[in-house]
Amino acid sequence: KPLVVAIDGPSGSGKSSVSRETARRLHAAYLDTGAMYRAVTWYCLKTGVALQEAAEVEKAAREVDLRISTHPDHEQVTVSGTDVTQAIREPEISGAVSAVATTLGARAELIRRQQQIIADSGRRIVAEGRDITTVVAPDAEVRILLTASEEARLRRRGLQLGGTQSEQELHNQVIARDAKDSTVVNFSEAADGVFTVDSSELDFEETIDAVLEVVRR
Ligand code: C5P
Repeated sequence: KPLVVAIDGPSGSGKSSVSRETARRLHAAYLDTGAMYRAVTWYCLKTGVALQEAAEVEKAAREVDLRISTHPDHEQVTVSGTDVTQAIREPEISGAVSAVATTLGARAELIRRQQQIIADSGRRIVAEGRDITTVVAPDAEVRILLTASEEARLRRRGLQLGGTQSEQELHNQVIARDAKDSTVVNFSEAADGVFTVDSSELDFEETIDAVLEVVRR
């Protein structure tokens, strides 16, 4: 059974880059569960599945041939052999992904797949998302909620996207998406036994150090 480090947090908390680097430092595998929700969304848009039709979205989540690399230095997601690594980061996907994430049947299927990937991952894995500490891997050895103030999250996402967005766009990408996601999963406060790392006042290195400190405690 692999050692699991579970990390949850809102958009713009730095969760993905912090989790990936933590995995490198620990010589662990890395699972970005958000990329799986994005890949199912890409597949639905590609195949004409209506996102408001829960049964169709669930069927899509079950049938999609989705592969995701768990090597922290090799970011790759494929759907039926098509590389969608870049495509799933497009605003069109970010704007639609909550519809998949709030379809409970699709969630159940993705949670099952994520648990399988974690079980198959070998020695160690860092898994990151919104419900890893609570639903996907509630018995993980290490569980962390990575938070940051709204201001810090908006600023980071803005930098990440190249600083070309309007405030409204940034708000849609960070605050509005989290509000939609929160209707099905609570990542705004730490569950019992989950350590909170607040990165608002920390730079990247300091955040990694804080996370590794929790891992080593
Ligand atoms: O982490 P990222 O922003 O790429 O996640 C994309 C979307 O996937 C989130 O907005 C959320 O709707 C969904 N998600 C989720 N549960 C997870 C990870 C992501 O619902 N564990």
